[in-house]
Amino acid sequence: STDDRISRISSSIRVIPDFPKPGIMFQDITTLLLDPMAFKDTIDLFVERYKDKNINVVAGIEARGFIFGPPIALAIGAKFVPMRKPKKLPGEVISEEYSLEYGTDTMEMHVGAVQAGERALVVDDLIATGGTLSAAIRLLGRVGVDVVECACVIELPELKGRSRLGDKPLFVLVS
Ligand code: AMP
Repeated sequence: STDDRISRISSSIRVIPDFPKPGIMFQDITTLLLDPMAFKDTIDLFVERYKDKNINVVAGIEARGFIFGPPIALAIGAKFVPMRKPKKLPGEVISEEYSLEYGTDTMEMHVGAVQAGERALVVDDLIATGGTLSAAIRLLGRVGVDVVECACVIELPELKGRSRLGDKPLFVLVS
């Protein structure tokens, strides 16, 4: 059942306290990847939700959106577009700045990777404050892409990241 699959996924995620700094409870999905049934269940649950939604772009956020995004893209027949940290993409890019706890960061996407009017799913491993996903939504919005939904394996609901996504729905497997 779906509940059994969610339970397997949830119990395969390792929590490491105080990484990368004191006070952070790091949700480590590498242990999920070590369990082939949990990894397959994760991808299957997303594919079941998105296969008939006419999505033609899966935008994966560096770095762990690059693990979950491509198998979803392949299964639903969409292209995969990497949303990267600055100075990684070799072609012409469009950039979006976003705020972190201390300072700012930038997300980049190749110009020409997506076209106005395309329908995108944004994928990352986890939503905390929602700053990262909201930057991806803005970046895709600037080039006229319709963000249908954001999908994460894990949500940290106490950080209320969902409220930063405006009218964009968020789907998560584990809270
Ligand atoms: P945010 O922009 O605050 O929603 O943070 C989300 C991004 O930071 C994602 O790309 C996550 O991989 C990473 N992240 C934030 N908090 C954690 C955490 N507690 N455990 C693992 N990854 C995290």
